[in-house]
Amino acid sequence: MPPKEPAFFNPRARVSRDFSIIAYSAFLKNFKGPKIFLDSLAGIGARSIRVANEIKSIEKVIVNDVNQQALEIGKSIATLNQVTNCEFSENEACRFLSLHSTRDGRGAIIDVDPFGSPSRYLDCAIRATFHGGLLSVTATDMTVLHGIFPEACQRKYYGTPVRTIYGNEIALRLILGCINMVAGRMDIMIHPLFVQHSMHYYKAYAKILVRTNTKDCMGYILHCDNCGNRKAVHEVEHTCNICNSKAKLAGPLWIESLHDKDFVDSMISEEKNLTVDKSCTLFLEKCKEEMGMPPAYFTLDEIGHRKQSAPPSLAKIIEKLKETGHRATRTSMNPTGFKTDATITEILSLV
Ligand SMILES: [Zn+2]
Repeated sequence: MPPKEPAFFNPRARVSRDFSIIAYSAFLKNFKGPKIFLDSLAGIGARSIRVANEIKSIEKVIVNDVNQQALEIGKSIATLNQVTNCEFSENEACRFLSLHSTRDGRGAIIDVDPFGSPSRYLDCAIRATFHGGLLSVTATDMTVLHGIFPEACQRKYYGTPVRTIYGNEIALRLILGCINMVAGRMDIMIHPLFVQHSMHYYKAYAKILVRTNTKDCMGYILHCDNCGNRKAVHEVEHTCNICNSKAKLAGPLWIESLHDKDFVDSMISEEKNLTVDKSCTLFLEKCKEEMGMPPAYFTLDEIGHRKQSAPPSLAKIIEKLKETGHRATRTSMNPTGFKTDATITEILSLV
């Protein structure tokens, strides 16, 4: 086990690293090209040394950090674990990524895991990702993404957050939206494969591709505090279409799918062969269920609060919605959350 050095290693991020191992493993299964993993802000290498150690198909891992002391710890962990396919690099993250932006130097998988916002690294990270490669990005600046500092969010993610009960979904969509906007400048497009958050670790996994389509995946989420209405829209709107109140608007952000079906399927099959937390299975099953559902989930608490009574169980509410011809599923974003194509008025009338 790595020593308890402050700032370098956070055991609470273990589940987040478990999901990385599953996602990378699933990704490399179908990746044709040099299987190189570049960890740009590796710290002591908690993620990258696991990648080197646990993913059999990986060819090379480069563990980069600007902190020499952290790298020394990483080197001893690698030696202790007899990991031989790791190289260490001491450089500032953007310089490191720029060195790997040449045709032959790019990574199949790039990870950006900073303290706070990843936005300043996105340009370099996209350039260092193989076309058809995977970019994984962590954000931990929750106060910014959850709307406590909206100006900072606008500055860092080009989008405005709204404080809602489904703020974690908005945060993940803002992160993807920002990656997409930065990629767009380089004529590159992203295809989100998987998103996940545990505690204050928000992580998005997106495939980096040469731009081929012009589909507009960006938009806004309109939220009405008065009636609880929410919906994804492509254009700016300020009025609630249910109660005519002035609504809030989050975005611009990513309004298309957060997960790729085939990718999550392959994560589910990879997960069985890896040593990861048991909670990963349930999470992945929920991701699979909620695919294709409209953005912005509802929660039982919220329904109970609006009805001023105890809400029914999650299973019951989903069943009722389905009985009345709606689509409804659980969501990976919240244990008491559900996604549906029913409006808030329709949900409340059923309860
Ligand atoms: Zn309304």
